[in-house]
Amino acid sequence: MKKSVFSICGMCTVRCPIRVEVENGVATWIEGNPHILGRSLCGKGSAGLAFHYQEYRPQGPMLRQGLRGGGQWKRVTWDTALDYVADKLGRILDRYGPGSTFLSCRGGPFLDLPKTFLKALGSPNFTNHDAACGRNVHHASLSLYGLGRKDFIYDLKECNHLVLYGRNMLESLKVKEAKDLMEALSRGMRMTYIDVRQTVTGSKASRFWMVRPGSDYALNLGIIHAVIKEGVYDAEFIRKWTTGFDDLANIVQPYTPEWAEEQTGVPAAEIHEFVREIASDRPKVVFHPGWMLARYRDSFYASRSTHILNVLMGSVEVPGGQIIAKGPKDYGKKDLNNLGDGVPKPTEKRADGVGWKYPHFDAGPGLFQLFYPAILTGQPYPIKAYVCYRHDPLTGFPDREAQRAALDRLDLIVALDAKFGETTWYGDVILPLSGYLEKDSPIASQKGKTPRFIVRRQAIEPLYDSKPEWWIFKELAKRMGLDKYFPYESVQELWDFQLKGTGFSIADFEEKGFVDPADKAKLFDRENGLKLKTGSGKIELVSPSLEKAGFPSLDIYREREPLPAGTFRLVFGRHAIHAHGHTQDNPLLHEVFPENNLWINDRVAADLGIAEGDKVEISANGVTAEVKAHITPFIHPEAVFTVHGFGRTVPVLKRAFGVGFADQRMAKGCLERFDPAGGGIAYLECLVTVRKAEEV
Ligand code: SF4
Repeated sequence: MKKSVFSICGMCTVRCPIRVEVENGVATWIEGNPHILGRSLCGKGSAGLAFHYQEYRPQGPMLRQGLRGGGQWKRVTWDTALDYVADKLGRILDRYGPGSTFLSCRGGPFLDLPKTFLKALGSPNFTNHDAACGRNVHHASLSLYGLGRKDFIYDLKECNHLVLYGRNMLESLKVKEAKDLMEALSRGMRMTYIDVRQTVTGSKASRFWMVRPGSDYALNLGIIHAVIKEGVYDAEFIRKWTTGFDDLANIVQPYTPEWAEEQTGVPAAEIHEFVREIASDRPKVVFHPGWMLARYRDSFYASRSTHILNVLMGSVEVPGGQIIAKGPKDYGKKDLNNLGDGVPKPTEKRADGVGWKYPHFDAGPGLFQLFYPAILTGQPYPIKAYVCYRHDPLTGFPDREAQRAALDRLDLIVALDAKFGETTWYGDVILPLSGYLEKDSPIASQKGKTPRFIVRRQAIEPLYDSKPEWWIFKELAKRMGLDKYFPYESVQELWDFQLKGTGFSIADFEEKGFVDPADKAKLFDRENGLKLKTGSGKIELVSPSLEKAGFPSLDIYREREPLPAGTFRLVFGRHAIHAHGHTQDNPLLHEVFPENNLWINDRVAADLGIAEGDKVEISANGVTAEVKAHITPFIHPEAVFTVHGFGRTVPVLKRAFGVGFADQRMAKGCLERFDPAGGGIAYLECLVTVRKAEEV
């Protein structure tokens, strides 16, 4: 028997809508949802079948035997595993208080369940992966608009000129965005790509600037200087919607394009030419802030200045520009009901200090890395339990050894995941999640040009003894006497609860896999209707909240020190075939891209006597690894580059185990090194040495 199911990809955090074909209970084909993606999918999404039909994933609940990370597990029943977790969590709460549990996740659209569970325990300590990703950009966005990074979308369909700072849209990809980009380039959109290395995305650009590592802020200051000096900004928009323009003009006064050339290596004449181009292309110009713009302790200002360039272009809320994402409420419609709204707000302050010790940070997911000092010091109160939900901080955050030392102080680590990650493997209990084709998920509400409700539907039966989230969190809550916060017995009842009052039922999702609460895109009125959430209701080029927290609105530029001889900045990034650290063991993807290598500038390599394919030794802070060299002129001489996610230490990952090297292991000491204004981890302050490996 054949059937077709609309669902949502789970191979990376983008979660593209998909259509799955199933024959006699076996998934045989996955493609992009034709109503949204015209059937397109990326390589990772296409390898989703290979993920499901392989045995190297948790096949049932497991309790650790022996030491953490030692790999000795006992298969147990779901009742045994859930009773164990509920009992242990209950005793920790009784002894150390409601805040003693923290929960982290990778982010994504289905977070009502884990957040509700944590809130029901009385803990405010929800956190996620974003300090290793887009926190600087998010906080920069908040400081200007009162809106976060996900409150904007970038309208490539009508854009005249797209400026990317290492935002590698064709390799670190979202299928819809990658398609929009290719279409925009085909119709003649200009693209300026700025990075310390060339990428697939950059190879399609009309301009590529290879900048000195860490100098993005200098480049932006030079561009802002020229934009203001030439008077090519949107004066009317600035007058109406911003505060602090004169201060901005004063701050950038010394930073000429000629000065920027000295800092970045980009010729001043090219900066002037670029400014003339964007002057003619605006307002349909997007300076895309991305999320990993740069990773230094002052990168917040690179992010903030990128947002400011959009403001100067007047590209806010115009077709082809930066558009405020709309939810159902912007159309006067009801949004989904959240379980968490029915749970009392925890009374404890956050253990990571976000919102009180660090008042300028958004308390939403806080900052993951700041839970480690809280665990180690017991301040502001003891943290004794960790629920790790589809997250792998031992791969995503720096300094695995320092993280493990902190995790060892916990009484309980519970991992919920569909695969083995480094952190799952370090847990005490593994509660295996069903693969994304094997489960129904709650409905998600997505903001965008128009809002959308979308749902993941089960396509096949679970291949192993795994369960969906909606069941696991409910069962745990039931055992802890908290089931009143999970008022459903089946996923159908959960959907009914979510949809109550919206005018939709789950049957409405059958036709296309989603429903649209509003059918026509709209823009807010730029005369009177921009809904900004700053104190002034305007775009704050000078930010009172930042300055109150002791940070300037725009900092002076601090020149990067020359690197010590023989050292390089270790830059990491993505390849289209792998999703960060979670696909290295996929049979198909492993076959296409089995291991990472190290990009080295060709002139540097010649000086070091290194040729293409040679084994090199990369070292930092007492950690050494061997990796193959890739020699290229397309990387700045001060940097070396690798694809993140390799060097796995979990022995059951039969293909990925021990293959390639783990960049984050080199970043010893970087766990405490983060941008004080933006919160992002300063990965790129890790310097490495490279030499040809000795032949044995
Ligand atoms: S980008 Fe690729 S892997 Fe990620 S959700 Fe979309 S199809 Fe899946």
